[in-house]
Amino acid sequence: MFSQQRNLWRKSLGSKPALTQILRRNLFASTPSPSPSERPPVLPPFDHQPTPYNKMMADEILKKRKEFLGPSLFYYYQKPLNIVEGKMQYLYDESGKRYLDAFAGIVTVSCGHCHPDIVNAVVEQTKLLQHTTTIYLHHAIVEFAEALASKMPGNLKVVYFVNSGTEANELAMMMARLYTGNLNMIALRNAYHGGSAGTLGLTALHTWKYPIPQGEVHHVMNPNPYRGAFGSDASRYADEVQDHIAYATPGSVAGFIAETFQGVGGAAELAPGYLKLVYDIVHQAGGVCIADEVQSGFGRTGSHYWGFQTQGVIPDIVTMAKGIGNGLPLGAVVTTPEIAQVMSQKIQFNTFGGNPVCSAGGHAVLKVLDKENRQTHCADVGSHLVGRLKELQHKHEIIGDVRGRGLMLGVELVTDRKDKTPAKAETLILFEKLKDLGVLLGKGGLHGNVFRIKPPMCFNKEDADFLVDALDYAISTI
Ligand code: PMP
Repeated sequence: MFSQQRNLWRKSLGSKPALTQILRRNLFASTPSPSPSERPPVLPPFDHQPTPYNKMMADEILKKRKEFLGPSLFYYYQKPLNIVEGKMQYLYDESGKRYLDAFAGIVTVSCGHCHPDIVNAVVEQTKLLQHTTTIYLHHAIVEFAEALASKMPGNLKVVYFVNSGTEANELAMMMARLYTGNLNMIALRNAYHGGSAGTLGLTALHTWKYPIPQGEVHHVMNPNPYRGAFGSDASRYADEVQDHIAYATPGSVAGFIAETFQGVGGAAELAPGYLKLVYDIVHQAGGVCIADEVQSGFGRTGSHYWGFQTQGVIPDIVTMAKGIGNGLPLGAVVTTPEIAQVMSQKIQFNTFGGNPVCSAGGHAVLKVLDKENRQTHCADVGSHLVGRLKELQHKHEIIGDVRGRGLMLGVELVTDRKDKTPAKAETLILFEKLKDLGVLLGKGGLHGNVFRIKPPMCFNKEDADFLVDALDYAISTI
């Protein structure tokens, strides 16, 4: 409905930039029209009326949250937002204020908030049957598994469904150990793979690590082109992996795990060619290679359906979650029949994994992404957005790096470009200002100085322009 409306607007008013300019001129009926950094930008029009909200307000929720929920929970913004409704790439707070969601519930709402096809699939399945477990047959789980397997390259054809990214990585790590008979895992510094007792060992950011046994995990250098010691020189980072295996392990390993685009670590890309070199080294050391696609999968990077494809490799095991369910608690491990087989030596079971509702919803996600050509859309909107962010980088010294692909982007803020000193305080100020302007971003990196831009994939060029104008305006006013 709203896209029809938007098309009508476009037809009557011409191109998208022209539309935005007209709206701006109408709102600030003064000439000459100001450059974006002089006036707060205005959210693109959107045809949706949020339902009036009459439940608990932010202050009371926060009070109860502090009393009844674990004290480790954290929230964004000095005065946390009470978000009560979502529609595609927009969110609404308790007062009905609209925000552009550029973080998608932490890279999870892939198709858009409350996408009608997914809501429909979930509701229809819930009305018929919600839960039985895999002790009985159900069509939804096999249909979904078949559709997911059809998206995978090589012999990655067997799916285990779980409920989260953490669970997926737990299972993948266990499979790697059982399949190879080795214990040692290799992971990257600056990685995030989960918060359970096992996956915490794979995660490599001290801010998330509790002081508990971390398992047999070795963290090798992060091949980060912006901050890494060897810049973009993949072979030098790969040599370090080889050395690490030779000196710090029995010489053989269970596996290697990496995100192709580190998410929590601040939208950090791996040096080009790195995975190809390291996968060879790991295979020679008897290990299997795991790609954590929890954030970078499903076409988000624009150029490819899976992040690992940007590095020209085929992993032995792929883990996924978040975007796979558009917000449903769903994760998956996809591997080869041979590796999958190792789990059958014992009873392996997951009560909710692949339940009819999540399977119906997850299958609907795959269909929507295809139907709406989201991968191409991410490439198109992402390159426009990167272009505009790079222009902004020329204007504002504080922007040290603009990186990423498709709608998986990072903007790293530094107080000086030479030393790359993280602009921690400034990031926080800008974060609040952007929220006030109606833009919700993510934050990441060890120092919290990277803005993470990973919106629902229906985010369009008008949204991208608004985001950049808001960032320009916010930076110009600090
Ligand atoms: N892997 C990656 C790359 C992630 O970003 C996350 C979550 N931030 C996880 C694994 C863990 O997923 P979950 O929170 O669903 O357990």
